[in-house]
Amino acid sequence: MKNSTQNRRQFLTETGKAGIALATMPLVTKMSSRIFFAGSDYTQQPLPYAYTALEPYIDAMTMEIHYTKHAATYAKNLADACVAEKVDTSTTSLIALLKTVSKYTPKMRNNAGGHYNHELFWQLMKPSPSVAPTGPLADAIQKTFGSFADFQKAFGEAAKTRFGSGWAWLLVKTDGSLAVSSTPNQDNPLMDVAEVQGTPLLGLDVWEHAYYLKYQNKRPDYINAWWNIVNWEWVQKRYAEALSK
Ligand code: MN
Repeated sequence: MKNSTQNRRQFLTETGKAGIALATMPLVTKMSSRIFFAGSDYTQQPLPYAYTALEPYIDAMTMEIHYTKHAATYAKNLADACVAEKVDTSTTSLIALLKTVSKYTPKMRNNAGGHYNHELFWQLMKPSPSVAPTGPLADAIQKTFGSFADFQKAFGEAAKTRFGSGWAWLLVKTDGSLAVSSTPNQDNPLMDVAEVQGTPLLGLDVWEHAYYLKYQNKRPDYINAWWNIVNWEWVQKRYAEALSK
């Protein structure tokens, strides 16, 4: 009895200390990197909202299947590929792996890209978004594309004309300028195999699994609807973060 009480007291003291240690600084660093650079974790992170949250633009069933089946499978297959190809995920960041993806197998390329792209995709949407960016990102978009509407047109074209499956992107190139591009399959601008390379700010999944239940063959309708749920505040923070690197 006495021992058990003592052990319990000791346990509480120790967990209390651990709690204080956790509550101080490491979490802050971890949180901010997760918010702005989603996709840095090798494992699938919780969806930041309910499956119904993006209705009516993206329906709940699409969200649930997309998150629990498609995206979850990329994360699982990425873990398998890391074991098979001897990637130490405690010392190699996912971003570093993507930047050297040509050294790995197609399985690694497809699943590292698939996992990263979806982690990013969930974060850059939200139920009640701003309708357009503000601040330095708005200025850069205007300077690069002429106007926000011209940017949307260029991005929409990239998304519509990507043949088969892939993604459309707004990215910051290594020289700090903005660009619109698209990539096939689960490639992304971080990859050393990408035609236009840089840090992705905004990405749109144009695989049929992302829209077919609600939009069937009407990919342009899905693209137009999607502008209603872009989380511009988040994209703006990512832009500031990308420029500071
Ligand atoms: Mn997808």
